[in-house]
Amino acid sequence: DYELGEADPEVRGIIDKEKKRQFRSLELIASENFTSRAVMEAVGSCLTNKYSEGLPGKRYYGGNEYIDELETLCQERALAAFNLDGKQWAVNVQPLSGSPANFEVYTAVLNPHDRIMGLDLPHGGHLSHGFMTPKRRVSGTSIYFESMPYRLDESSGLVDYDMLEKTATLFRPKLIIAGASAYPRDFDYPRMRKIADAVGAFLVMDMAHISGLVAASVVANPFEYCDIVTTTTHKSLRGPRGGMIFFKKDPVLGVDLEAAINNAVFPGLQGGPHNHTIGGLAVCLKHAKSPDFKAYQNKVVSNCRALASRLMELGYKLVSGGTDNHLVLVDLRPLGLDGARVEKILDMASITLNKNSVAGDKSALVPGGIRIGSPAMTTRGFSEKEFVTVADLINEGVQITLEAKNLVSGSKLQDFMKLVTSPEFPLIEKVLNLQRRVE
Ligand code: PLP
Repeated sequence: DYELGEADPEVRGIIDKEKKRQFRSLELIASENFTSRAVMEAVGSCLTNKYSEGLPGKRYYGGNEYIDELETLCQERALAAFNLDGKQWAVNVQPLSGSPANFEVYTAVLNPHDRIMGLDLPHGGHLSHGFMTPKRRVSGTSIYFESMPYRLDESSGLVDYDMLEKTATLFRPKLIIAGASAYPRDFDYPRMRKIADAVGAFLVMDMAHISGLVAASVVANPFEYCDIVTTTTHKSLRGPRGGMIFFKKDPVLGVDLEAAINNAVFPGLQGGPHNHTIGGLAVCLKHAKSPDFKAYQNKVVSNCRALASRLMELGYKLVSGGTDNHLVLVDLRPLGLDGARVEKILDMASITLNKNSVAGDKSALVPGGIRIGSPAMTTRGFSEKEFVTVADLINEGVQITLEAKNLVSGSKLQDFMKLVTSPEFPLIEKVLNLQRRVE
């Protein structure tokens, strides 16, 4: 049995390069984080070797006494992390990630072609909440179910609940899903509950982005109003890559959620659970009960506010005018810029964030905004002062992008990319100077 470096120097080398990249750049992707050594140790352990289809005490394979102990511990810690009463709530910790968790919920409580409403992708929603273009049903959710999006009020940047209510009254969805990938504010759960009740729909919250903030009670609590709550485990929660589904134990709309959801996960859509992930998740959920986890989540929010304030001081337009959580969405259109160009220049300077649609965009390929998140760099120890500097560095990158864009005759994205990736890019010294300061 060889160490990785001996057995496969090529893969070892790639991992080492990726590790260096992660450590030298400013990681500002709102859905990313750095998990702990303890979580990584569990994920890289012998737990990966075991098959355990089924649930604790009800397995299709032998040799599962320790896996049963582990999964039961993970379930208990998951309920404790979100302050849930085990008499009212239960959890399935086997979903392989966030998208499968959502599809498992739909499969559990809906029939094919039943109706779903989720936040529109270009308005900050996630693909797994349904997405189709006039030409194509893009998301599996829209292929197997009928999806109708709700959207933001473009002037305020907030969810347009009046429009959701009107559309729901006509469309009569069987499931409404709250939650987003790029929404800097809390959802109005009481209002959504009312709308769901009026049309007889399940109310689901996908708290993937904010589950760490929910566990630390620094944002509103979706469990008070929703029937089902799904999440990824690797974003603000800071665990391994995976998913969870929380559900009410009492029947909802005549459906026994416990049986329906557990069966949708296995045998419906998955086979053997990833026990190494469940091990890492249990470690992360223990940490989620600690005072330093709560302090960390508070810092994620205060750092993000500091970033938002500085960006606004510098004249940037933020969707919804600020943030209540871990991310800001910058609308670059008033500058005559788009997210794709800015993402590229910042990437060259080791500032990692992503281009993002903002409500009203004409093109999804060249969206008008960038999304900036605070969880990863807060894990690396940044406080508000450093996040003010982050805003200044991003601003410098945006100014370089403006100059670069002016250098390209016409403004096609392709021409721009050719210019900035050529060795003779006239502004390369400026980019390298920015990179030196970042690294
Ligand atoms: N739900 C939301 C709100 C997300 O933002 C994401 C991913 O970014 C997912 C679900 C999907 O998670 P995964 O990439 O683990 O499938």
